[in-house]
Amino acid sequence: MALTRRQFIQVGAATAGGAAVASGLPTRWWGLDGDPVPDPGTEGEKVVPTYCELCFWGCGMLAHVQGDRVTKVTGNPAHPLSRGMLCPRGAGATGLLDDPDRLQRPMIRRAKRGEDVFEEVSWDAALSEVAEKLQQVKARHGAEALALFTHGSGGTWFKALMKAWGSPNIGAPSYAQCRGPREAAFQLTFGAPLGSPEPIDIANARCITLIGSHLGENMHNTQVQELAEAIGRGADLVVVDPRFSVAASKARYWLPVKPGTDIALLLAWLHVIIGEERHDAAWVAAHATGFDELKAHVADKTPAWAAEITGVPAQQIADSARLIASARPASLIHPGRHVVWYGDDTQRERAMAILAAVLGSWGHRGGYLKQDRFPLAGYPHGGAPPPTRPKVDRPKGGKYPLAGEVLASGLCDATRPGQTLYELQAWLVYGCNLIQAMPGRPQLLESIQKLELLVAVDVLPSEICGFADVVLPECTFLERDDDAWNGPWRRPFIAARQAAVPPRHDTKPGWWIAKALADKLGVGDHLPWKDANDYLQARLAVKGQSWEELSRTGVLLGKEVPTCVEDGAEIELETSSGKAELYSKELEELDFEPLPVYHPQEEGPPGSFRLLSGRSPLHTFGRTVNNRLLAQPFPENAVWLNADAARALPGFERTPLVEGDKVVLINQDGVRSTPVKVKLTQRIRPDCVYMVHGWGQNAKRLRYAHGRGASDSQLTTRFKVDPIMGGTGMNVNFVRLERAAREQA
Ligand code: SF4
Repeated sequence: MALTRRQFIQVGAATAGGAAVASGLPTRWWGLDGDPVPDPGTEGEKVVPTYCELCFWGCGMLAHVQGDRVTKVTGNPAHPLSRGMLCPRGAGATGLLDDPDRLQRPMIRRAKRGEDVFEEVSWDAALSEVAEKLQQVKARHGAEALALFTHGSGGTWFKALMKAWGSPNIGAPSYAQCRGPREAAFQLTFGAPLGSPEPIDIANARCITLIGSHLGENMHNTQVQELAEAIGRGADLVVVDPRFSVAASKARYWLPVKPGTDIALLLAWLHVIIGEERHDAAWVAAHATGFDELKAHVADKTPAWAAEITGVPAQQIADSARLIASARPASLIHPGRHVVWYGDDTQRERAMAILAAVLGSWGHRGGYLKQDRFPLAGYPHGGAPPPTRPKVDRPKGGKYPLAGEVLASGLCDATRPGQTLYELQAWLVYGCNLIQAMPGRPQLLESIQKLELLVAVDVLPSEICGFADVVLPECTFLERDDDAWNGPWRRPFIAARQAAVPPRHDTKPGWWIAKALADKLGVGDHLPWKDANDYLQARLAVKGQSWEELSRTGVLLGKEVPTCVEDGAEIELETSSGKAELYSKELEELDFEPLPVYHPQEEGPPGSFRLLSGRSPLHTFGRTVNNRLLAQPFPENAVWLNADAARALPGFERTPLVEGDKVVLINQDGVRSTPVKVKLTQRIRPDCVYMVHGWGQNAKRLRYAHGRGASDSQLTTRFKVDPIMGGTGMNVNFVRLERAAREQA
């Protein structure tokens, strides 16, 4: 069934004042105080296919260009992820291009680190400064003392630079601070991590279960389109969330679970489904091991037991379990994405993977599909000699045995003395604001102050730039060619990123910056390409693939292959047993629980609320909070507070809080937020508060975002590390509320 624009808007924009658009926002410019300038129109335009970087989903985008202006952006109909539509953030891409606060020239710090006092310099001076300091670090501590933090396709160039330089320490917060636990859990259960985009068939599911995943607010374009399609077709939704999310408003069951108790709910669902023989016995017999142990494990995990723990009535637990089972195998347990909550996250994700297995949804339409990558060759050259020392991200070796990627938090730890084999002395931070991305800000700042060199490559003067010694301004994705997008998908494809307009100011594309720095460092031979297109054309040429078609349409499609049993695909599992491992011997051998067990979470001090955070459909963390186009419909975050809980707040008896009042949040360690508006609602449990992540920016150069809203990550001074894979569970902080002083409010 074709998706209508109306359906997409219904799902995506319910919290955004109807701001979601399917085809693109017209370019309007709002000055800091001024009126909008009219859309200049698009006549005489050229259209450049590229892919979006307002988040990292990678939707195909068409940039409509007039002269040196991008007048609007629309979804590329040929691109499998956008299917002709952008999400609201992507549609606001020109707000990034036209941002008056963009970094314009390279800068060198001229005051204490963190004071954000810089001198603008030439590229030659900036790169010489970086090269000289890096050579000093190498002479004293070795090449491996440099770490790269990265996110996005532009990371290709800096990873190549790291290889040429001789350091293996390359990490991204998108693993240990985001999706890592689910990758470990699905690897343990099915023999493969999920990766991105997730191999799930939302469009064909008959029942979709979201556990803390607020699709529609978390705006991964393709998934939201498919969710709209599924709902339009009559699929059922089961939503487990302490907050009545947009998705919950479409659900047959909203289960407002007490935060930290999801494992108990999942075990009770398994109890009902297995106890009433509603599981897929044939799938389990053919493809799974450990069913008897699982059955015994959940035998006493009754809905009544879970009701006491979760606060969800036993009848609703049982009924929702029956609904979920009734749709199998097209019953999709969505694995979530940002899943670092309580430190037991791999075990919660294991429970979700086990549930998916007993529903028989792995390998079936409407469940988990087979995806593949387009056969794009690597760049055809020998590369640099390997580093001489191992990665440094797992302090005191042996910790976190099932970490599948480098831990960004481990790199931060390895910068402080005495934590690991050797210490990091220099960071290159590409396109990720570690100040908001990492928990434990005091430790992070301690690591930063310890560095001999911090280089930030960014488009905007984000908070991490304020701590850098040298800031290198990259042009936006609309102004640069880049490496191809080459993620896994049902029909494999690659997409091209192409400059729509020339770089503004004195900014440069990432490929140029990495190459120029490599030349200064004397390792330029290892980055021999002329530019990004030369690099990509060389990769395509290895297998005779067409650069002409890729650059013209923005997409090269691979061969159609079967993706599920219904299409003729086989179920092949790469665990050591060749089966889905419901009971994990691997975990048992490592002295972890082989089946998920519910352990109570620590409660907060009396009068406090558990701090939860999430996404807005109009923003991608702090990356977009300075974008004036996106600020129009969503100008700042607010703290959601249960209206009944607000009435009972001590200290507010004489003058109760009203909607829009400003409060300060104070966490269990005494850290105070900036003033933030309160949203009083019945749409959240009374024991927690919620806010959209990314606001509360300290960076003064972000003139729109600075001082707006509050930062959940500033309040995340505590985190609980997942012992299995090193993820940093962040939903373990508690706050109390104080009315903001009149001058702050
Ligand atoms: Fe861009 Fe939205 Fe797609 Fe992300 S989901 S790549 S912001 S259009």
